[in-house]
Amino acid sequence: MTGKEIREKYLKFFQERGHQILPSASLIPHNDPSILWTAAGMVPFKPFFTGQAVPEYKRVTTCQKCIRTPDIESVGRTARHHTFFEMLGNFSFGDYFKESAIPWAWEFVTEHLKLPKEKLWITIYLDDDEAFEIWHKVVGVPAERIVRMGKDTNFWEIGVGPCGPCSEIYVDLGEARGCGSPDCGVGCDCDRFLEIWNLVFIQFFRDEEGNYTPLKNKGIDTGMGLERVASVLQGVLSNFDTDLFREIMDYTADLAGQKYGQDPKIDLALKVIADHCRAVTFAVSDGALPGNEGRGYVIRRLLRRAVRFGRVLGVHEPFLYKVARAVINQMKDAYPELQPKSEHVLRVIRTEEERFLETLAAGSDILSALIQEAKAAGVSEITGEDAFKLYDTFGFPLELTQEIAAEQGLTVDTDGFAAAMEEQRQRARSARQETEYLSERGVLYKALREELGETRFIGYSTLEAATNVL
Ligand code: ATP
Ligand code: MG
Ligand code: MG
Ligand code: MG
Repeated sequence: MTGKEIREKYLKFFQERGHQILPSASLIPHNDPSILWTAAGMVPFKPFFTGQAVPEYKRVTTCQKCIRTPDIESVGRTARHHTFFEMLGNFSFGDYFKESAIPWAWEFVTEHLKLPKEKLWITIYLDDDEAFEIWHKVVGVPAERIVRMGKDTNFWEIGVGPCGPCSEIYVDLGEARGCGSPDCGVGCDCDRFLEIWNLVFIQFFRDEEGNYTPLKNKGIDTGMGLERVASVLQGVLSNFDTDLFREIMDYTADLAGQKYGQDPKIDLALKVIADHCRAVTFAVSDGALPGNEGRGYVIRRLLRRAVRFGRVLGVHEPFLYKVARAVINQMKDAYPELQPKSEHVLRVIRTEEERFLETLAAGSDILSALIQEAKAAGVSEITGEDAFKLYDTFGFPLELTQEIAAEQGLTVDTDGFAAAMEEQRQRARSARQETEYLSERGVLYKALREELGETRFIGYSTLEAATNVL
């Protein structure tokens, strides 16, 4: 089953069960300054769960574009994490609850995706006996394959507001994929037990004091990772080996004159590039731009990281914008908003890439000189201060300095780098405070002027009076 087929099957399954299919919301959350990115299918529906807004439909199903930057380091190192991925979901706003959500999830994975029942494992929250009963008695999952887990994985909450226990579906991919530890089981960080679907049962309201009171209108929020399901159904070793990624990676490999599947270093680079390029392409298409803060910084970081991995492939000229074109071609049917923005997206990526390559060129010359100096002096380390200067003045990432230094047998003083960074932060902070102070004073003077009218200096003629006033 292709990624496209899974997407369609899921949405159709829930449509047939009374759900309205809605298009993916933007990656940039609407009206929610508390988060940078849409990181789950429920994000656009938060106000319906909190009761701030009334939904038009009580049952909704979507395939939501998601970005999770905390997973950046896992990309290519685990078989299952991306910065950008697609989350399939079904939602109930005060309509059906566990009694329907659980059997439907089971029916979908076993009858429609045809995953073998004996390979599926279920997790539930510690004391969620209601979920246990449904999984065990209604659905028929053997008790020994239902695992009770704690709050960190199986309870969803975001401070004050609606919250509730979760239940997840895992696929056992077989011992050969495991870490071999005697403790290996559901929840182990290795690749054997793959979490594919999370069902959140929104049934409590958490108040400021941390009390949980049952909600009158309970809700359902589920999230299934499309790329993970595709990897299981296509019988491949990682999300990157599914049709959703291979086209993009093969294109990049061709472009670089490389081949996927022969050298782990090259493979990692191809995976990271494909992942980051998908994220940047979708984010820019949704209106984000590279910059130095917040969302802009995330884009810049992803793009620069991809460029760096391009160097591993031996590519030294702009290429990401071409990969972005491949991403758009592959995803434009599922996300029709991509095509009309494609020229803009490619232009933004290319410009940013060119700028970074210039930065790299300038920084590289200086770094070569530093390396020569260090070698001549018989030192095996680049100072933290120098590494920081490269970073601060040329936008030269520390990892890159380390990488190039390592090629010449040198290390970088990372503690010194951190110290220089901290010093810079302190300087920036006091400069900022100074400006704030000045502007505060400015505001005060303006208010005074508005209240008292223009002041005129009268000290020359009436020194006495002025002194008296003082
Ligand atoms: P994991 O424990 O594997 O990091 P998670 O528990 O953080 O996943 P959830 O927040 O429960 O994930 O999200 C719902 C589903 O979205 C997961 O079951 C998984 O299928 C998918 N998913 C989550 N994070 C990623 C990611 N970084 N890349 C691809 N798919 C993901
Ligand atoms: Mg996670
Ligand atoms: Mg998890
Ligand atoms: Mg989860």
